[in-house]
Amino acid sequence: MITKHRSLKVKNTLGLDVSTRFLIVAEKKETILDAWKFSKFLKLPFLILGEASNVLFVEDFAGIIVLNRIQGINIYEDSKLWKLHIGAGENWHKLVQNMLTKGIFGLENLAWIPGTVGSVPIQNIGAYGVELKDFCSYVDVLHLKNGDIKRIYSTECNFSYRNSIFKNKYWTDFVIIAVGISLKKKWQPILTYNDLKYLKPISAWDIFNEIFLIRKRKIPDPKVIGNVGSFFKNPIVTKKEAKLLLRYFPTMPCYPYINNQIKLAAGWLIEQCNLKEFYIGDSGIYKNQALILINKGHATSQDILSLAREIRIRVGKKFNIWLEPEVRFIKAKGECDAVAMLS
Ligand SMILES: Cc1cc2nc3c(=O)[nH]c(=O)nc-3n(C[C@H](O)[C@H](O)[C@H](O)COP(=O)(O)OP(=O)(O)OC[C@H]3O[C@@H](n4cnc5c(N)ncnc54)[C@H](O)[C@@H]3O)c2cc1C
Repeated sequence: MITKHRSLKVKNTLGLDVSTRFLIVAEKKETILDAWKFSKFLKLPFLILGEASNVLFVEDFAGIIVLNRIQGINIYEDSKLWKLHIGAGENWHKLVQNMLTKGIFGLENLAWIPGTVGSVPIQNIGAYGVELKDFCSYVDVLHLKNGDIKRIYSTECNFSYRNSIFKNKYWTDFVIIAVGISLKKKWQPILTYNDLKYLKPISAWDIFNEIFLIRKRKIPDPKVIGNVGSFFKNPIVTKKEAKLLLRYFPTMPCYPYINNQIKLAAGWLIEQCNLKEFYIGDSGIYKNQALILINKGHATSQDILSLAREIRIRVGKKFNIWLEPEVRFIKAKGECDAVAMLS
């Protein structure tokens, strides 16, 4: 299906009133390839999206947006593992719920995250002590230039905190069309996250339900209040830098991260700048979680940008830590450098 000059207001979770020149819904890879060729023919920018829950449209998009809706869930098994092959256009949360209903456990900590399956490897989605990399076995990418499909095994995906090879080497001219996930048949609950420590789960459903309650407290429903989840990434610093900061801010939360580094809580840093419930136009900071920027109804892209800029400057001045957006910034011709936009 192809539509012209289409409003994206109900199609991005921030609820920004922006538009695209063409919008195409693709249920098979051939449609994606045709749309890409069409964009080359018309010399227009091309953008693939899932559910636009991790993008900030800085302005109207001047090209062709393709919404990936390739469906299909195939389940294989061996004596130890459930092996899933999932179409990139499947909704991630529905997949998690669907697997739990079938008695296939393991993904419950990642429940209630909006978006499609095809997007989850890109920033290696993570929540409540778990990341996609813990289960991902491969990612199938479609090379738009020649139509070839390449399987990238998880060892080659370079997964790290909110990052992967799909943000660089396999970014331009590649579209994710399927993801492979392996889950152990012998279920082990993961309760390392502080809010889950005291839970005594009998089944994965207990974790699923608890996470629903935690998320309900901290994150607004995008259908009611526009948002993209965490707007900024949690900063990663060296042990030495963390030690120095702790001298001045002894209550600062610090979490051990790989290679002797320390992960800080961006939400806490923002709170310390007396910015909670701070508003620019109709955009603001969510009252229950400072890391979430919201659209109260009529915020413009410029409102959100100004707010994000203000937050970044205030945190930078107080802590000498310069927050980086987790959300992807999209200009008229495609993705742009989010840090540069806020500098
Ligand atoms: C309320 C809320 C809560 C959230 N909670 C979390 C959380 O706990 N943890 C977390 O990690 N994230 C969270 N997020 C962020 C977001 O949901 C995830 O990043 C999600 O995976 C994005 O999926 P999407 O389909 O909406 O991606 P989109 O926003 O549509 O796209 C994101 C980027 O991926 C690209 N892309 C999309 N599909 C493809 C594809 N098939 N092939 C190649 N590139 C593609 C797009 O071009 C874009 O650059 C949250 C967001 C919201 C709104």
